[in-house]
Amino acid sequence: MLVVMRDHASQESIDHIVELLREAGAEAHLSQGEVKTIIGVVGEREIVYALDFDGLPGVEEVIRVLKPYKLVTREFQPEDTVIRIGRSSVGGGAFAVMAGPCSIESEEQMMGVARDAAAAGATMIRGGAFKPRSSPYAFQGMGLEGLKLLRAAGDSVRLPVVTEVLDVRDAETVAEWADVLQVGARNMQNFMMLEELGRMRKPILLKRGLAATIEETLSAAEYLLKGGNRDIMICERGIRTFETYTRNTLDLAAVAAFKMLTHLPIISDPSHATGRRDLIAPMSRASVTAGADGLMIEVHPQPERAKCDGPQSLTPADFSALMERVVPLVELEGKRMGVEG
Ligand code: PEP
Ligand code: MN
Repeated sequence: MLVVMRDHASQESIDHIVELLREAGAEAHLSQGEVKTIIGVVGEREIVYALDFDGLPGVEEVIRVLKPYKLVTREFQPEDTVIRIGRSSVGGGAFAVMAGPCSIESEEQMMGVARDAAAAGATMIRGGAFKPRSSPYAFQGMGLEGLKLLRAAGDSVRLPVVTEVLDVRDAETVAEWADVLQVGARNMQNFMMLEELGRMRKPILLKRGLAATIEETLSAAEYLLKGGNRDIMICERGIRTFETYTRNTLDLAAVAAFKMLTHLPIISDPSHATGRRDLIAPMSRASVTAGADGLMIEVHPQPERAKCDGPQSLTPADFSALMERVVPLVELEGKRMGVEG
C-alpha cells in the first residue's frame, strides 16, 4: 500500500499516519520529496488490508499494491475488456447469453437446442463434452464425438460454442473444435491448467470455484492474463454455503464486486447456482440488474430425459420466455445483446 500525501502536507499529518502504522504493527517507509510525501506501507497482508487512511488529514490517495493480482484490476485497465468471437461479443456493453444443454447427448438434441436457443436470442451455444461428475458412475460425456456435434450445431446457427476443458491434456483438442474454453469450478485452482490456457489464444470462461473467494477467483484469472491471454471471462456459478434448498448460493454481491474490481466480463450462471428450474428466470433478471455482462443458462429439449442436470434445465419454450424479460432489462442497463447479423 502507498499512502500518497497531499502537496505540502504538514509534518504533523505525516507523523500521525506513521504513528497509526506503527500502532497497527506495520512499517512505514517515507519518501519525502520537496512537495510530496509518499508513505510506503510494509507489513502482513491482513494488517495492511485492515488499515483505512482514506479521508484522514493530509491524505490525497491510498494506493493498494499488495494485491496478489494486478492485470485483472481496473487500476491496470480502467476500460472494460471486450471479447469478440465471430458475430458475437461480450463486455463493454455487449451482453452474452450462453445457452445449451449441460451435456451433449446426440446430434438431434444439440441441433435442436442450438436452433431454438438462437431463435430466442442466445449469443453463444454451450454444451459439455467432457463432464466433471461427482460420481464416477455418472455419464461422463461424449468426448471428441460430442465436440464435433457441438461445433456443427454452433455452425448451423452461426454462433460461437463454449465447452469445458476438463483436463489439460485435452486443451489442444478442445481448442480445435470450440471457440470458448471453459474452466470448470472444480478446476479453478488447477494452476497447471491455467498456465497452459494462459499461453493459448482462445477466449476462456473461468468459473468460480465452489468455495473460492473473490480474491482467489481474481488470482486464478490473473494466471490466465499473466500468460498473455487477454480474452478472459469470469463466471459466478454459485458457492457452497449451509443452504441446501438450492444446489449452491448465487453470490450476486460477487457479481457487483467483480464489476468494480476487474475489467473482465462477468457472466452469471443461475442454472448451476440454484439447481432449480423455477429459480432460473428470477435469478437471471437479478443478475442483469447486478451488472452481469452475460448469462449461462442450461436448456434441454426434454429436461426430464437429460443425462445431466435435468432439474435445472429449461425447456426451449421456458428459455424463450426468459429471454423476453431479460432483453428489456439488458437495455435498461444501457447494454445491448452481444450478437450481430
Ligand atoms: C458446467 O457448466 O457444465 C459445469 C459443470 O459447471 P461448474 O463447473 O460450474 O459446476
Ligand atoms: Mn450442468
